[in-house]
Amino acid sequence: MPAAFFGHGSPMNALELNRYTDAWATFGTGIPRPRAILVISAHWYIQATALTAMPQPKTIHDFYGFPPELFAVDYPAPGDPDLAEQIADVVKPTWVGLDVDSWGIDHGTWSVLRHAFPDADIPVLQLSINANKPLEYHLELGARLAPLRQQGVLIIASGNVVHNLRGIDLNRTDSGFSWAQRFDDAAREVMTDVPEASPTLQGHEDFGIAVPTPEHFIPLLYLAGLSAAAERPAEVLIDGYVYGSLSMTAYTLDARCPIGNGVDLESAAELGRMPAEDSNI
Ligand code: ZN
Repeated sequence: MPAAFFGHGSPMNALELNRYTDAWATFGTGIPRPRAILVISAHWYIQATALTAMPQPKTIHDFYGFPPELFAVDYPAPGDPDLAEQIADVVKPTWVGLDVDSWGIDHGTWSVLRHAFPDADIPVLQLSINANKPLEYHLELGARLAPLRQQGVLIIASGNVVHNLRGIDLNRTDSGFSWAQRFDDAAREVMTDVPEASPTLQGHEDFGIAVPTPEHFIPLLYLAGLSAAAERPAEVLIDGYVYGSLSMTAYTLDARCPIGNGVDLESAAELGRMPAEDSNI
């Protein structure tokens, strides 16, 4: 089963149709039907590592100031409590708490899944981002999730590589500031070559302005960990910027997704790429 990181941008992407949502939809139709979807969303950033384990997770509208139709969105996918227990076993000795009544499916997840899997009939679980842990923890936890891919579980990380809300310029509808482009380019070099080195991005000169808070960046580390475990780099599904300070770059691992620009993205394996030589995760 492939894996992916999506730049989700504004919650309005849940309702709008644009080249990013087209790419998410193409991804959803282009891969085998998953048994379940495990999502690491920027919007479940808490003081613990937890996994949703309720049979029917609720749709969470974790934002304000948006139109009523966005608050009316429901994504009624079922959960999978048995799979949650299996995942807690798979990641040992990392401890994961099973959440039966707290979280659900937040907009980092449903804004993407509404396009990729509009029928909402595939079980969805969310894994929290533990705010107390360093980047290396998230890279390693991502790698620990790798066996799930062989069991038909689609792993999706949802955030934004560059996410500076204070820096938003509404006049820049489709372009990025130079610092945003520099950091996004650096992240692309790492993800498509040596994803296991992704924690070193925190030493980049633009890290502080591109990643003023870590919650939207950290989901990338999960795909980096999965890529390192597979000994194959990630590929760019689509890229671009909105409002100057948000990067919308999306990455896939082992997906075959022809997208709107006519580029047929084939899996790294099919392209005959060599695995990363110094992968040790
Ligand atoms: Zn977000």
